[in-house]
Amino acid sequence: MAGPIRERTALDVLATRAIDGEPLGRAEALGVLGTPEEMLLDLVAAAARVRRHYFADRVRLHFLVNMKSGLCPEDCSYCSQRRGSSADVATYAWANADEVADVCDRAVAAGVRRVCLVASGRGPSERDVARVAQTISAIRKRRPGVEVCACLGLLRDGQGEMLRDAGVLAYNHNLNVAEDRYPEICTTHSFADRKGTLERARRAGLSPCSGVIFGLGEDDAEVVDLLFALRAEEPDSVPVNFLIPFDGTPAHERWDLTPLRCLKILALCRLAFPATDVRIGGGREIHLRALQPLALHLATSIFLGDYLTSEGAPAAGDLAMIADAGFVVEGLDGTGVPTPTAGTVALRRRGIGTGKPANV
Ligand code: SF4
Repeated sequence: MAGPIRERTALDVLATRAIDGEPLGRAEALGVLGTPEEMLLDLVAAAARVRRHYFADRVRLHFLVNMKSGLCPEDCSYCSQRRGSSADVATYAWANADEVADVCDRAVAAGVRRVCLVASGRGPSERDVARVAQTISAIRKRRPGVEVCACLGLLRDGQGEMLRDAGVLAYNHNLNVAEDRYPEICTTHSFADRKGTLERARRAGLSPCSGVIFGLGEDDAEVVDLLFALRAEEPDSVPVNFLIPFDGTPAHERWDLTPLRCLKILALCRLAFPATDVRIGGGREIHLRALQPLALHLATSIFLGDYLTSEGAPAAGDLAMIADAGFVVEGLDGTGVPTPTAGTVALRRRGIGTGKPANV
């Protein structure tokens, strides 16, 4: 297969092959990204069939906790916490264990199954690992079954094992961008460093979580290079981030993504990672916008609540979106959580008859 895919039957063939466990080829992946926009719903329908096959109507919710924010010595150009960033983000040293346990408790009550404990920095010290262990104990006292993912930067030998023994289930370390572009995006560590950390996490028996960030000017070939490099790492979980162009960072003027482009990328992710938890990460609200419910037919998890340094959508609104799109939250006890509906009717207090300008 070469060139953009222009036939619905060709998309159906790719979906059937994904369900049968046949890996997507490079030319096919490029063809998926080249699908004409008038066929976007056909593409979503084909990839959604794969999602339904492996995950039925379930959506998992993850919750991010920024345990240490800002002032990172690394220089990842997309990051608001990078060295030299003038983004007006919260900066603080390690959050208190009880404070973290408190927010995790509330997140689990809202349907979250996995909490992701994140810290800015090149990588953890032994003392940092001990802090994380103490925090996990505090979380588990209240929510014994909660899954814990750690995202603490580059790991040294032995640190993965220490985290595993502390109760960490998964380790997140994203590949982020294609290897050829990596030196443009970051000069303080390399693509190989990132792969090394994934390998250490895997050797320690941690579930590898590794994802990507799009919106940094990548072309279709780079999207495919990155996803195929990631596929070779065999992650259990793939967060797909769309750039949040923070003021005060080198990427602040990059608004390259459209909702349709994001959907195509997510459809490709589903076809390339048929049975893997593909998560819509940061940027879903600002880039997918009104198409977020369609993206749920491709991805299997989202972050509930806020991101590391920016605010997400109100949790109640996201829970309603999931239910309205026909999906069920897979909470800790395996059941969905109720969708709040009270208080969602806002009486009009602007426009004709009110003395205030209309909402146009
Ligand atoms: S290492 Fe992490 S926190 Fe530091 S600049 Fe890079 S992405 Fe941001």
